[in-house]
Amino acid sequence: MSKYFGQFGGQYTGEVLKPALAELEAAFLNILPTEEFQKEYHILLRDYVGRPTPLYFAERTTKDLNGAKVYIKLEGLANTGAHKINNALGQVLLAQKMGKTRVIAETGAGQHGVATAAAAAKLGLACEVFMGEVDVARQQPNVFLMKQYGAKVTPVSDGTRTLKDAVNRTLKEWAGCSSDTLYILGSALGPYPYPDMVRTFQQIIGQEIRQSILEREGRLPDMLIACCGGGSNSIGTFTPFINDTVSLVAVEAGGKGKHLGDHAVRMNGNGHLGIIEGYKSFFIQNGEGQVLPTHSISAGLDYAGIGPELAFLGEKGRIKFESATDTEVLNAYQYFAQKEGLLFAMESAHAAAYALRIVPKLTKEAIVCITMSGRGDKDIFITAKELYKAEWIKFLKNECEK
Ligand SMILES: *Cc1c(COP(=O)(O)O)cnc(C)c1O
Repeated sequence: MSKYFGQFGGQYTGEVLKPALAELEAAFLNILPTEEFQKEYHILLRDYVGRPTPLYFAERTTKDLNGAKVYIKLEGLANTGAHKINNALGQVLLAQKMGKTRVIAETGAGQHGVATAAAAAKLGLACEVFMGEVDVARQQPNVFLMKQYGAKVTPVSDGTRTLKDAVNRTLKEWAGCSSDTLYILGSALGPYPYPDMVRTFQQIIGQEIRQSILEREGRLPDMLIACCGGGSNSIGTFTPFINDTVSLVAVEAGGKGKHLGDHAVRMNGNGHLGIIEGYKSFFIQNGEGQVLPTHSISAGLDYAGIGPELAFLGEKGRIKFESATDTEVLNAYQYFAQKEGLLFAMESAHAAAYALRIVPKLTKEAIVCITMSGRGDKDIFITAKELYKAEWIKFLKNECEK
């Protein structure tokens, strides 16, 4: 257990947060590994989340691409629709065991807020979610869902009124209320111990892949592909394979193209080392350390920073970083909908898009596994507008006039 991954990571926060982080570290090291905690967590994963999620053999895709054999890990079938619940539920359960009665969380697109609100409802804790005003305005379906789960959604009007402002605000809030409240952080980033803890809760994805593929193929896959925003579904997929000769590919948001502001690619020389939101990693920023705007068709991959362990493993060459453009992502989304009857979330469709590029180049003996981090129902307000703009706008207008 280390605060650093090479030069990345750490715990760069003001003194006011140190006691709360120390208490969390103690709980992470002493409560989380206990048999009692693990047993309760795994029963919840089974009965409430619906784990294990299926490892699905994409037979028609495999035939069509005529290269490697393609498997897809269906995290989108987890309750609330994505992998985020694995982590949110784990942290909320830890909060309960720490004797806390309330949780707070940041959210950008709203996916982590939804997962946290649902987990808090399930375990009977109060929940408040901080969300940039801009995100509140453009992510109404998730705001609605959070409220249905009984959470309070508080708009944040600082800075650019988006995710990074919500993170800063939640950290600030936490400093003042940590005696009864735990901050539930949504990706494998932030100050130590969050990156370690989020990875610990998400590695169930890779553990299940490993077990199912060994049962079915009698060997490990040759390549794992996962999309990468902050990095929780990718590090969760990759961790159980880090010491094997399996190639690991993380796919970032290539957006509209290579110009600054048009994408959210932090690796391969696009991001610069900085210390932001309590940790050291690569961020898309200017010379003054100001975080710059990013773009992606997927609301969950447009974060300007990247989890420190991902940055470290990328620098080391253990994880290869690729990207997919918005156009490739929409194509992949439609391909898998029509070829397999599977609706990928826009985030996860980045992994799918890279698979469509690489699989035909591999031999028939090769096995590739794509992590579908979430399902695409949530994206209907994006995908419908992209694909059938006129009809969709007409529908929305009619609904408003009723
Ligand atoms: C939030 C989200 C992501 C991006 O977050 P990571 O921490 O990189 O996994 C990816 N897919 C889905 C479906 C999400 O909701």
